[in-house]
Amino acid sequence: MSNSFRSLYPAQRVLMGPGPSNVHPRVLAAMARPTVGHLDPWFSGFMEDLKELLRMALRTRNPLTFPVSAPGSAGMETCFVNLVEPGDKVVVVVNGVFGKRMIENVVNCGGIPVAVEFDWGTTVDPGKIEDALRAHPDARLLAFVHAETSTGVATDAAAISAIAREHDCLTLMDAVTSVAGIPVEVDGWQIDAVYSGTQKCLSCPPGLSPVSFSERAVAAVKARKTPVQSWFLDLTKVMSYWDGSNGRSYHHTAPVNALYGLHESLVLLAEEGIENSWARHAAMHLELKDGLEGLGLEFLVPVESRLPQLNAVKVPAGIDEAAVRAHVLERYGLEIGAGLGSLAGKIWRVGLMGQTAQRSSVTLCVEAMKDALAAQRA
Ligand SMILES: *Cc1c(COP(=O)(O)O)cnc(C)c1O
Repeated sequence: MSNSFRSLYPAQRVLMGPGPSNVHPRVLAAMARPTVGHLDPWFSGFMEDLKELLRMALRTRNPLTFPVSAPGSAGMETCFVNLVEPGDKVVVVVNGVFGKRMIENVVNCGGIPVAVEFDWGTTVDPGKIEDALRAHPDARLLAFVHAETSTGVATDAAAISAIAREHDCLTLMDAVTSVAGIPVEVDGWQIDAVYSGTQKCLSCPPGLSPVSFSERAVAAVKARKTPVQSWFLDLTKVMSYWDGSNGRSYHHTAPVNALYGLHESLVLLAEEGIENSWARHAAMHLELKDGLEGLGLEFLVPVESRLPQLNAVKVPAGIDEAAVRAHVLERYGLEIGAGLGSLAGKIWRVGLMGQTAQRSSVTLCVEAMKDALAAQRA
């Protein structure tokens, strides 16, 4: 048999899209270390360290904190399938793609979604959410996206969670893009269920989704009248592996080397200091903003709710947005993202996430965009 297959050497890119972001060489090196058994006593200690590091990143003391063995969407589903029973009413803030996915999750769980909608790219008004909770006093859960990667909008999680508490409602927060990029205070804001992802501001390859449940959320899961409709994501089952207090038993084979990578990315975050990571994202965003505005480009999102790690930049009239993305990818090895849904063709999404949030990326992006725009206008 002739063998024409060869080892892979993917192109080197600067990843300034909506995720994944560039991965630190130390994370890639950690993932290349020897695989051990997922029930090895050494691995058991490693899992406890990893959970503690996740608590650091999420700013929580929740015992039930662990990485789901699948990407951010599986973290989302873990939260919904465990907290929503048929007939439950769930208020969902919808201001982009991921809020819409939350509605689909509620429907698939047999729940009754109440959407509180905002125009994409605009600031989320907590007053409108309070109105919805007043109109639906039987709602048990309020779900929202902290950092909408589809639009670049940051939502005031502290304000929304305070309103939910007043209405005796649990909160479910998508923190996939926010963790490590902007302040996330799971305990400080009293968030009940949260999920994140590894490939955004944690700068790890995609494939894992850290989740955390408060004691109130755990009590709600224990009080369920119906079984969880997913076998794989059922917390009561998966915790037989992740909660080591009574020994660990096999649930599924954990992605051992991927977990090494997440561990190393969290060690990097602890070394930098999480507040310093937030500050770095903010500072690099301001430099990018100055550079892009210097080219005559404008931002979509009002300054008060603008995410530093996801810059929604308006495509000027007469510019072919896809040609600009192709130009910067081919000539500069730079990936930037396209708009989604109602913003397709209207914006670029320029990510400054994790390891990518550094001056060399900003400089490259401004230079590449300048060249790409000039090429179109020539
Ligand atoms: C990327 C993202 C997700 C989904 O994560 P995957 O890892 O792609 O499944 C969910 N929510 C938000 C806000 C995201 O940015």
